[in-house]
Amino acid sequence: MGILDRHLHLLETHRAMQATGADPLVVMERVLSPTEAVINGRRTLLVGTNNYFGLTFDKACIEAAIEATRAEGTGTTGSRTANGTYAQHAALEAEMAEFYGKKHCMVMTTGYQANLGIISTLVGEGDYLVIDADSHASIYDACKQTQATIIRFRHNDPASLEARLRRLKDEPGNKLVVVEGIYSMLGDTAPLKAFVEVTKRYGGYILVDEAHSLGALGERGRGLVEEAGVLDEVDFVVGTFSKTLGAIGGFCVSDVEGFEALRVATRAYMFTASLPPSIVASVRAALKIVRKDGAVLRKRLWDNVATLYDGLAKAGFRLGPEHGPVVAVVMPDQMTTVGVWQALMEAGIYVNVAVPPATPGGLCLLRCSLSAAHSRGQLQHMVEVLAEVGHRFGVLPQERSAAVA
Ligand code: PMP
Repeated sequence: MGILDRHLHLLETHRAMQATGADPLVVMERVLSPTEAVINGRRTLLVGTNNYFGLTFDKACIEAAIEATRAEGTGTTGSRTANGTYAQHAALEAEMAEFYGKKHCMVMTTGYQANLGIISTLVGEGDYLVIDADSHASIYDACKQTQATIIRFRHNDPASLEARLRRLKDEPGNKLVVVEGIYSMLGDTAPLKAFVEVTKRYGGYILVDEAHSLGALGERGRGLVEEAGVLDEVDFVVGTFSKTLGAIGGFCVSDVEGFEALRVATRAYMFTASLPPSIVASVRAALKIVRKDGAVLRKRLWDNVATLYDGLAKAGFRLGPEHGPVVAVVMPDQMTTVGVWQALMEAGIYVNVAVPPATPGGLCLLRCSLSAAHSRGQLQHMVEVLAEVGHRFGVLPQERSAAVA
């Protein structure tokens, strides 16, 4: 058996898609703005990024990045625990901690590493890591890096979580519950208040990954933890700088005593290079925007959510269960998903193809995501095009139905 044989089926699936003329691994030949790029020589509307506030082209963020590069160079060439902690990293950590009203913050190089490193370090032998079954890959990968016992509960089901915790109630180990604010595939939100209540009742800790909800939810943009009114009770909030904040990086904020031990125990923090000065500076500028103009951007984002979600629901598409910055359009099968995706590309619209095993419940999805930078006209155009393509591919039901889970 060849060393890569175990992965060949993945390549075969991908090649089967390519054989139909569709290659979802697109190359952006030129990025024009937060909502447009040139792909395959065509000006294309982007409705499949995570640019929720459209800050990637924000003037202040760009200027801050340029300025920091001039002042401090292109990279740190080392990890946070060696030569890679600059005053700016510490300043960003203080600003993130203040934003969340938490005592501690650790900034990491990606959101993936934040989940991987923090979760796998918080629990070890004799402990229990209790995760939602639809968790992101970074959470599943953290499970592989810890000696803790892994227990899954049914997606977004507090009764299922309770049943698991009840069984563990006499076990001496720590219990860490991990959920996400907004789930990246179907765009549904966690019933967080109930999760927090159950977790606390059984003496557990709870960590919330707010990758898709930072900026988008909460009166001050602090995600579902704020919107659900549980910011003070949640033990760890993990998030990313790669979506609403328009750059790259991850973070964890917390009030838990002894948090600083994570800096000398988290391998994904200690053994990888730190964020370059340009990124730290642009993230700090983006955070300032979230704090100052967040309400306006959030309203624009949610107005756009309503335009796309309601437009597609009215056209008869089956969608994810909730309004949100991620709008999942359910397709009947993989070939239709790819066919519709390709037809959208030919019409100059880019969305994400999401198929099993990356999706929950074996669903085939066209994953759309919105930005405050989209214009209403762009989204109305998308609804019209997708409705036409949906009819052409026989996706739209005869009888127009409302959104379902
Ligand atoms: N958590 C969730 C829920 C995500 O969707 C993602 C990215 N798609 C991450 C973590 C990882 O973030 P990053 O891109 O910063 O590595």
